[in-house]
Amino acid sequence: MSSENDRIIVVGAGPVGLTTALALARRGIPSVLLAAEPELVMELRGSTFHPPTLDLLDEFDMVPRMIEVGLKAPTWQFRDRETGPVATFDLGLLAGDTNHPYRVQCEQWKLMRFVEAELNKIGTDIRFGHEVTGVTQDGDGVTVTASTANGPVAVSGRYVIAADGARSAVRRSLGVEFEGFTYAELFWIASTDFPFEKTLTDIAYVNYIADPNEWLVLLRVPGLWRVLVPAPENSDKDQLLSDEHMQSMLQRVVPRPEPYNIAHRSIYPVHQRVAKSFRHGRVLLAGDAAHVNNPLGGMGMNGGIQDAFNLADKLKAIYAGADDRLLDRYDRQRRIVAVEAVQAQTHRNQQMISERNPDVRKKSLDAMRRTAADKTSAREYMLRSSMIASMRRAAEIE
Ligand SMILES: Cc1cc2nc3c(=O)[nH]c(=O)nc-3n(C[C@H](O)[C@H](O)[C@H](O)COP(=O)(O)OP(=O)(O)OC[C@H]3O[C@@H](n4cnc5c(N)ncnc54)[C@H](O)[C@@H]3O)c2cc1C
Repeated sequence: MSSENDRIIVVGAGPVGLTTALALARRGIPSVLLAAEPELVMELRGSTFHPPTLDLLDEFDMVPRMIEVGLKAPTWQFRDRETGPVATFDLGLLAGDTNHPYRVQCEQWKLMRFVEAELNKIGTDIRFGHEVTGVTQDGDGVTVTASTANGPVAVSGRYVIAADGARSAVRRSLGVEFEGFTYAELFWIASTDFPFEKTLTDIAYVNYIADPNEWLVLLRVPGLWRVLVPAPENSDKDQLLSDEHMQSMLQRVVPRPEPYNIAHRSIYPVHQRVAKSFRHGRVLLAGDAAHVNNPLGGMGMNGGIQDAFNLADKLKAIYAGADDRLLDRYDRQRRIVAVEAVQAQTHRNQQMISERNPDVRKKSLDAMRRTAADKTSAREYMLRSSMIASMRRAAEIE
């Protein structure tokens, strides 16, 4: 392999691809980043950063800047739509477990911009307008083909990290199964500058709200509240996104005489899926390309950023001479976290707040109330819901 090609090819400039490229650069490993779009995509998607992800991002010196453009959330809540708060979790109880005993509410595109600026400073080779279509590999290296405005191009390297999102072209081109299911309901989102905290005076910045008919998530980002509710799978999407339906959804949260000002609206299907394996020879899957889950718990991007640092550490060891079977350990560690922790926790959250049977609902909300009220059980629960327990579990896997 020529020294020019002795690099990592990162596919996708989402939060995971960008973080991977910067973590590699900080470990002295060259990479080329291929991104389908002409520039970074500024979608309003992930916004919750958990403590262990913030601990990892300390390496980039970015957390203070994220807090500056975001919000520190010291608590989060389970609520009942009718009766109000059920359980408030105080992340301060994790002070001995993390450098960041709080969540940071900051839109993922803000982190992406910070990371892109660092990559540009370092001079990392970022190629926008390169949509990867296929991968070939042999004992010496790996080559991806990408379609560009000037026709197809081939890019070679030592390994590929596919961070090209849930519909990953790399994963598909390898024929890797993406096992799991799709929820029957659609997830319907509105963002508004209406200050819900002035009416629902006891809410936190992150609230999961149980209701047998229309469960709800209320999330704060600077200047906006994001409201997420379910919609029937056979809904007419255009109709739901119409002003009339968006207004009536928001009016059900807090009725008011004036219409809501709506900053963003979207509706999408949600999946719980994990790739059969995260390693395929010289190709590693990371982020949504490897695992997707429902957003109740804010774990998708967090898990992907944790994949990125795990991979960067292993590639550093391999570039220093370690056996590349180390990458099989990446698969074992991160796949188990995706299945046992992220899929399980996010699905439980969805089940609990959507439960229709009043007895079952009462029982699980009561259990949550008791968990939050006892410091030992609250800490144990938050170690899991903040993804600290799963990071620790992964570190133990050989
Ligand atoms: C409403 C909502 C709320 C969410 N909230 C949270 C949250 O609070 N916390 C959390 O942790 N997660 C959250 N998530 C999940 C989070 O947004 C994703 O897990 C995260 O974006 C995954 O990052 P990624 O880089 O793996 O993939 P993506 O963000 O999908 O990025 C993939 C990139 O690859 C590019 N690409 C695609 N195909 C190709 C190709 N063939 N060649 C080159 N480039 C390609 C795409 O253009 C894109 O830029 C939320 C998701 C949604 C929808």
